[in-house]
Amino acid sequence: MGRIAFDHVTKKYGDVVAVKDVSLEAADGEFLVLVGPSGCGKTTALRCLAGLEEVTDGTLYISDRDVTSLPPKDRDIAMVFQNYALYPHMDVYGNLAFALRLRKHEMAAAAANAPTDGEQSNGAAAFLGRLFTKNAPLRGADAEIDRRVRRAAEVLDLTDLLKRRPRQLSGGQRQRVALGRAIVREPQAFLMDEPLSNLDTQLRMQTRAEILKLHQRLKVTTIYVTHDQQEAMTMGDRLAVMKAGEIQQLDTPQRIYDHPASLFVAGFIGSPAMNMLPVIVQRSGDQIMLANGDFALPAPGRVKMRLTEAVGKEMTLGIRPEHVLPLPMNSNGADTQDRMAVNVDIVEPLGAEILMYMSGTGGRQVVGRFDPSQRARTGDRLYVGFKPEHLHLFDPETGNALI
Ligand code: ATP
Repeated sequence: MGRIAFDHVTKKYGDVVAVKDVSLEAADGEFLVLVGPSGCGKTTALRCLAGLEEVTDGTLYISDRDVTSLPPKDRDIAMVFQNYALYPHMDVYGNLAFALRLRKHEMAAAAANAPTDGEQSNGAAAFLGRLFTKNAPLRGADAEIDRRVRRAAEVLDLTDLLKRRPRQLSGGQRQRVALGRAIVREPQAFLMDEPLSNLDTQLRMQTRAEILKLHQRLKVTTIYVTHDQQEAMTMGDRLAVMKAGEIQQLDTPQRIYDHPASLFVAGFIGSPAMNMLPVIVQRSGDQIMLANGDFALPAPGRVKMRLTEAVGKEMTLGIRPEHVLPLPMNSNGADTQDRMAVNVDIVEPLGAEILMYMSGTGGRQVVGRFDPSQRARTGDRLYVGFKPEHLHLFDPETGNALI
């Protein structure tokens, strides 16, 4: 059914390589998000899949069909864009039905294949009746269009608004009509390019939830493009994190968050971003330490063996804000090296948690996500520790994660 595959797809614009040797597969019914910063190639990848751009190299499959050379209209996909221009002079029904009316003969064929109300699918008499009744196929098409429009309106809760013009709708309702125009096509796949970016924050959250509900109901394979990592995390069954035309990591949101494969992914996914602290690998007796002017931590056991060959080398230690622990000044062993003395620069109370921006004596910055009971204020000095089981380590030369 709606399986989608990119097989070594490259798209060049002159010297610019917008998409570089991308291979990925979305299973039938999967919600797969392409996420990355501006210019990373996600829109181009989507446009190649839609047939709006010709690929330079590679093959594209939709429902196991090679669609690489097919025109967009033959790919059986529906796109939803950021700019959803609705026809202002048509009501919601007209907007939903418009594209289908242009394909009336296709609708007639669909109507002939599908049973309509009160008609048996294997009704040979009904078939012969249609064959010999002038205009019957087009009447069938109208019925098919009506069925699809009403189904989409029901799914999107637009039934009571079918007679309204776009100017009589709220922004969220208009966006739902735009989604409806994709749904009525009953495609093998939805391709969505930042469909929420024109909406204000509240409407965005609401429409995000609606798109997910819709997906659960229709189970149509969806490729969704966004630059917003939070949107990607909350929506995707899996994410493909892109940078400079390439996929850096393809996995479930949680696995990407917990085990980022590179410095780039670690910094891009998560807000506030993961703390990155330069350290030098040092030997101390039979211990391997990760040290800088602010602290010296024993290397986690799972990476110790590999680090024995990297003594003297610089590495980047990563720790998420929620894995930074505030330690009171007077705690036992406050002068041990496995903790970092910091100055509190900014405190951001967020109700359920507080974010604290801190700096070490060497100027290294650390962000902590703490319980609101933490009473430190701007200008205070305290110690912070790092949960050893949550440390990440990256090779700054290659950007690759060691743990
Ligand atoms: P954004 O979130 O800003 O839309 P994106 O990740 O979707 O970014 P693309 O629009 O796919 O990125 O662009 C990828 C690269 O290809 C960019 O460097 C862009 O400048 C370049 N590019 C895109 N379209 C064209 C074009 N028609 N001609 C030349 N270069 C292009």
